[in-house]
Amino acid sequence: MIQPPNTTSGHAPSPVSDLSKFECLGCGTCCRQDGYVRLKPDEADKIAAFLDMDVYEFIEAYTILTQDRQALSLIDKKDGECIFLDNGGCRIHPAKPGQCLGFPHQWKFKAFEAVCAWAIRTRKNHSPNISSPSSSSK
Ligand code: SF4
Repeated sequence: MIQPPNTTSGHAPSPVSDLSKFECLGCGTCCRQDGYVRLKPDEADKIAAFLDMDVYEFIEAYTILTQDRQALSLIDKKDGECIFLDNGGCRIHPAKPGQCLGFPHQWKFKAFEAVCAWAIRTRKNHSPNISSPSSSSK
């Protein structure tokens, strides 16, 4: 996981490095990244209860043991996106793991600024080189 940038250097943070105004636009990009979605010890129970499943059945159906054998992780679909990403939304949103809730404040991926819908919108809104729709000649 990549740590958030240090914004205490005395320089004004760039629009995208200032994550204080982050709001999830539901693009699902973070749910399509490589890597584990690690579950904390109580999270398998929480998600299983949300899905109205027995926790052992949930573990069998939806998790793998991480390579370091320290945690369970949600499995991916064949295309690499999280098993619970559905039509752009999280099927287990009310019970989603803490790792998901920690994005982008506790971790973010390398291409975050290029592909996260909020980051793209934020960059556009702060770029003097990009015309707003109201100023277009169309
Ligand atoms: S559990 Fe939900 S929020 Fe977390 S990666 Fe999967 S689809 Fe995304």
